[in-house]
Amino acid sequence: MARKPTIRPKIAKTVPALRRIVAGWRDKGETVALVPTMGALHAGHIALVRLARRRADRVVVSIFVNPAQFAPSEDFSTYPRTFDTDVAMLAQEKADLVWAPANVAVMYPDGFATRIVPEGPATAGLEDRFRPDFFKGVATVVAKLFTQAAPDIAVFGEKDYQQLKVVTRMARDLDLPLRVIGAPTVREKDGLAMSSRNAYLSAEERAAAPTLHRVLKGCAASLKKGAALAQTLIEGESEIERAGFAVDYLEARHAETLARVSSVKDGPVRLLVAAKIGRTRLIDNIAV
Ligand code: AMP
Repeated sequence: MARKPTIRPKIAKTVPALRRIVAGWRDKGETVALVPTMGALHAGHIALVRLARRRADRVVVSIFVNPAQFAPSEDFSTYPRTFDTDVAMLAQEKADLVWAPANVAVMYPDGFATRIVPEGPATAGLEDRFRPDFFKGVATVVAKLFTQAAPDIAVFGEKDYQQLKVVTRMARDLDLPLRVIGAPTVREKDGLAMSSRNAYLSAEERAAAPTLHRVLKGCAASLKKGAALAQTLIEGESEIERAGFAVDYLEARHAETLARVSSVKDGPVRLLVAAKIGRTRLIDNIAV
C-alpha cells in the first residue's frame, strides 16, 4: 500500500513572509499556536508541538539560535544546528510553518536598540545568578516572536522552569493577547531531562547525568515525608557532587513566584537544580 507522502511545513525566513501566511489563516478564522525553539529538536520539543497541535488549528515552530541569550563565554557558535532534520521531524508532526529567520539581522537589524528587562521571576536568584543577561535576551526575543507570529497560544517546556515563569509574567505585564502554556518535561528512560546540550556529554558524563533527576526525586520524597528542607538540600547537593558535578544551585522555591521557602508548608514547592559536568551545564526541576 502506498504511504501518504508527508507534507513539508512551509518555511518563512522573513517577518513579512511569516505575517502573510499567519494573516491568511486569521482571515479564515483559524487559531494559531507558536512553539519557540532553538532547533536541534528532540522528543521534548516534539511534545510541545503535539500539545500545540491539539490546542490550535495551525502550529508555527520557530527555530532561531538567539545570540542575545548567550554570554560571550557560552556556546553560541557551537550550539547544535540540525535544520534539515528538524524540518523533517516537524513534517512528521504536521506542523504548518517553520519560522526560521534567514539570519541574525532579520531579528536584530542594524541599529537595533531595544531590550526587555524582566524582573520578578527573572531576578529570583536562580539561573539569573549564573547567567546575568540570559533572561533579558530570552524576554526580548520571545516578545519579538510573539508580536511577529501573533499566536493565540505559545507553548513552553517546564524543563526551563524559570524561563516559563518569566515568559508568562512578561506576556501578562505587557498585555500581549495570548496564553502561555507549560508542558511537562520529557525524559530519557533513565530520567535525564532531554536537552539539545546532552549531545555535548562524553559517555562517562552521560552515565552520571541521571543523578540530577534521581536526587530531585529523592529530595521530593524526603520532603513529602516531613524531612527538614535545609538538611535535605545539603545532602542532595553532596550526592550530586559525588557523581562528578559542580553544583550551581539546588533549591526549593515557591512553584509560582519562585520566592524562597523555608518548608514545604510554604508551597506549592518546586525543586530546581543547575550543575556542570565537564564543560556541560545541565538544569532540571520537579514539583514536590
Ligand atoms: P530550546 O530549543 O532548548 O530553547 O527549547 C525550546 C523549548 O522546548 C523550551 O520551551 C524548552 O523548555 C522546551 N524543552 C526543551 N527540552 C525539553 C524537554 N526535555 N521536555 C519538555 N520541553 C522541553
